[in-house]
Amino acid sequence: MPICLVDPTDDRVRPHDARWRSGVVEALHRAGMRSSSARAEVVDWIAATPGPFRAETIVQQLVVGWGIGSRPTVYRTIDWLRAAGWLARLHGEGLDRAYTRTAPGGHQLVCVGCGDIQTLLGLDLAPLLTRQLSALGFELCGQSLELYGRCRDCRTAAPVAPASLVQEECLP
Ligand SMILES: [Zn+2]
Repeated sequence: MPICLVDPTDDRVRPHDARWRSGVVEALHRAGMRSSSARAEVVDWIAATPGPFRAETIVQQLVVGWGIGSRPTVYRTIDWLRAAGWLARLHGEGLDRAYTRTAPGGHQLVCVGCGDIQTLLGLDLAPLLTRQLSALGFELCGQSLELYGRCRDCRTAAPVAPASLVQEECLP
């Protein structure tokens, strides 16, 4: 089943993830990144975006549409956020080249019913894999886990409702 990506023409009110934004601003400050209004605009755009998005959507809306920043600024900001653990690249069907907000050390729970993505924190896989990785001579440098299932709302909703909504609103 395809997962919905953000439609930039969708004017519905989007929840602003203030906690994610303040964590990123603090991390940028700690990393000694100079303040840049274009970078702040990219961070604000992502904070206000509830679902998965593609970098090119930000370029089209901020750079092409509103004349804010540049394509390299958008991609550099995304690269930094990803490296610092504040963005995760998704790999599921229909999510190619899509990103979602996360937190350092977080793993993604993707709902196949409505496309909602939750962040699972506090799960360190390294201790569970020590023996297997050691046998392979593999040193773990990072971890990223994408789990698929059905969220609480989809599990309690009428069986047909989530599927029909997703079909109508999804991008090809
Ligand atoms: Zn769901």
